[in-house]
Amino acid sequence: MNSLYDEVVFRFKNALPEKHLLTSTNIQTGSTQYQLYTLVLGKGNPRRALISAGIHGDEPGGVETLLKFLEQKEYENYINEWEFTLLPCINPSGLNAGTRENAEAIDLNRKFREANPPEEVQYAQSFFDKPFDLDIELHEDYDSPGYYLFQKEDEPVSPLGRSILDEVAKIMPLNISEEIEELPADNGLLARLSDPEEMDWWPMALYAYSRGCKKIVTLETATSFPMETRVRAHLKAIEIALARY
Ligand SMILES: [Zn+2]
Repeated sequence: MNSLYDEVVFRFKNALPEKHLLTSTNIQTGSTQYQLYTLVLGKGNPRRALISAGIHGDEPGGVETLLKFLEQKEYENYINEWEFTLLPCINPSGLNAGTRENAEAIDLNRKFREANPPEEVQYAQSFFDKPFDLDIELHEDYDSPGYYLFQKEDEPVSPLGRSILDEVAKIMPLNISEEIEELPADNGLLARLSDPEEMDWWPMALYAYSRGCKKIVTLETATSFPMETRVRAHLKAIEIALARY
């Protein structure tokens, strides 16, 4: 029987456009080997965006969004300006098991400051040698009543995060709590983040920042909504991030 990850790879390969650059990396988690795929579109274009999903295995909406981004050719409007690096699923063992962590019970998005991180993290880190202009990370939240996002960039923070939320709110309500994940939030926007130097651990977003990425958005849907709504919300967020960068 095909695993969920096998199906992701099948759809991903089926949706490849004519001009593309596909690479793959072999990683081992526990006793199982996985092939992780990376797609680059619009190579050499002036602006560079990284879009990634599935670092938490129990957040399938991000992976589905990235597949739809390809299948529906959502990149087409931006392909003359942006070079895309797409990582459709960073944590295949977690996706197959339906767990946040990988098969070694590690939350990969806590390991980006480690000297010797898990292979999935090393794989993700390998793309940051040349700084991206934009890093979009697709997540989901089981406890949130609505959509929200983390925005990380040099001060002053640009209006990009607010622009995304204004448009996404037409598809999914925002999480309007004043505090989300123990951080101050403003109508779904978390831009007052901890100082990376003071943190013992880093998520991928802070690693991206440390590697010179100019704008980073970590996007969170509310898992209680139907998959179709979550994917539409994420696709809208990607569209706004690219169009109003
Ligand atoms: Zn997540």
